[in-house]
Amino acid sequence: MSEPIPRGAAAPAAGRRRRWRQGWWSGAARRASPNFGPRPAGVAVELVVLHSISLPPGVYGGDAVQRLFTNRLDWTAHPSFEAIRGLQVSAHFLLRRDGRALQFVSTDQRAWHAGASQWRGRDNCNDFSIGIELEGLEGQTFEPAQYGALNELLQALSRRYPLQAVAGHEHVAPGRKHDPGPGFDWQALAALPGFPQGIALPA
Ligand SMILES: [Zn+2]
Repeated sequence: MSEPIPRGAAAPAAGRRRRWRQGWWSGAARRASPNFGPRPAGVAVELVVLHSISLPPGVYGGDAVQRLFTNRLDWTAHPSFEAIRGLQVSAHFLLRRDGRALQFVSTDQRAWHAGASQWRGRDNCNDFSIGIELEGLEGQTFEPAQYGALNELLQALSRRYPLQAVAGHEHVAPGRKHDPGPGFDWQALAALPGFPQGIALPA
């Protein structure tokens, strides 16, 4: 269903050294969101929850998603925004169609992305997960630059946290959520050079 990922799309640019500072990644532009809270004491970050989002749905390149995550979205700017009026949500990261990364919440903090959810018998995935949004639409495909950026980000996260798995929102909230959907190619992600070993993906 997805287009093949060109070779080399995943290779991090040579010479760039990415760093973490208090849960903020130097590979992403910071857009601090007030929508976060503390993680429960003693809980390790073991999961990445992958999402897709675009506002209006299917329209790419605008700033509505970052406005939503920072509580600055004008609910009257598009008829589709009425359905989400007042929503206060966030994710740790958004990967744009061209692979650029934005970060809204420190990964040391708990972002508000998964909602009612369960993974390996544990509820409240926000407590122990990182939320990554891909700019896109569930059911449609994603850009090679997004796979490359995601691969680099997962490598950076796996150096900082004891990550065990990446799952889609659709996998931790089945029936309620459907993103990123069948257009996301999990096997292509796993096949990218440098993809962290030992991280489980949906079957
Ligand atoms: Zn989602």
